[in-house]
Amino acid sequence: MTDRYAVIGNPIAHSKSPLIHKMFAEQTVQDISYEKIEAPLDGFAAKIDELRKAGYKGCNVTVPFKTQAYQLSKEFASAEAKSAQAVNTMGFDLTNVVYGENTDGIGLINDIKNNSKIEFNGKRILLIGAGGAARGVCLPIKLEKPKVFCIVNRDVKKAQSLVEEFRGLGTSQIEFRQSTFEQLSGNAFDIVINATSAGLTDSEIPLPKNIFAPGALAYDMMYGRETPFMKFAREHGAAVISDGLGMLVEQAAESFFLWRGVRPETPPVIAALRHP
Ligand code: NDP
Repeated sequence: MTDRYAVIGNPIAHSKSPLIHKMFAEQTVQDISYEKIEAPLDGFAAKIDELRKAGYKGCNVTVPFKTQAYQLSKEFASAEAKSAQAVNTMGFDLTNVVYGENTDGIGLINDIKNNSKIEFNGKRILLIGAGGAARGVCLPIKLEKPKVFCIVNRDVKKAQSLVEEFRGLGTSQIEFRQSTFEQLSGNAFDIVINATSAGLTDSEIPLPKNIFAPGALAYDMMYGRETPFMKFAREHGAAVISDGLGMLVEQAAESFFLWRGVRPETPPVIAALRHP
């Protein structure tokens, strides 16, 4: 019998997740269906109940419901979901939500390590942004044991509270700090990750010109077009520039693995999305 899954968001029409999971299912010969479902802004919990009772096995959750998904699955949430306070992958049975996971962080790490072949260990990392996406990658980045981990945000208090919250988690052998954009001057980083939503409005981020160390990776979590951050990186010496398409596919692969117990090959799926 076909096992049913879905991605739930609002809006959801743009989602590439059904296409990604279709490719995973074909590749690994899994009998699943996967659709996109728009839940009303005030009706996420009711939609989950409905899917569960209809026999769905699980779902992905996207904007703006990841925090609500965490609330619903808190009791069964993983350490990553707890630290992110957000869930993007749920598993159900007929009577309950059985787990809540956040695969965004591991998706980012896997994309950078496996697809760009760049390690975090011993490196200087700059994370730009302190919203939901940034929070979700704090613990996974710390666990990679970088040398320096700096979080910069327009509202520096938010960066500071992330640093305070995550200071005790993972290894303590890291120079872990927050920064304002002005304070970045004179510092260079090996991996610079843009986790802001500035790209959505084509806004520039006020980075100093020498922010990229020799050989640096500039990574934008957004995908679909070159953002002002990626253009800045191209013009100011970043050696490798990546958008967030690989992260999207890698987080989906982790969800697929949780649900099905088989790990799909991601490079052909990333290539198919880039060159349809
Ligand atoms: P939030 O709304 O939670 O946070 C937005 C962040 O962006 C805040 O830190 C905010 O700073 C900052 N910001 C917004 N505009 C600007 C600007 N003009 N200049 C500088 N900083 C700015 O958003 P999310 O964290 O949920 O999402 C961020 C991005 O990550 C989105 O583009 C999303 O598409 C992407 N994403 C990609 C994924 C993938 O799989 N590739 C997965 C998850 C997210 P302040 O606090 O000062 O307002």
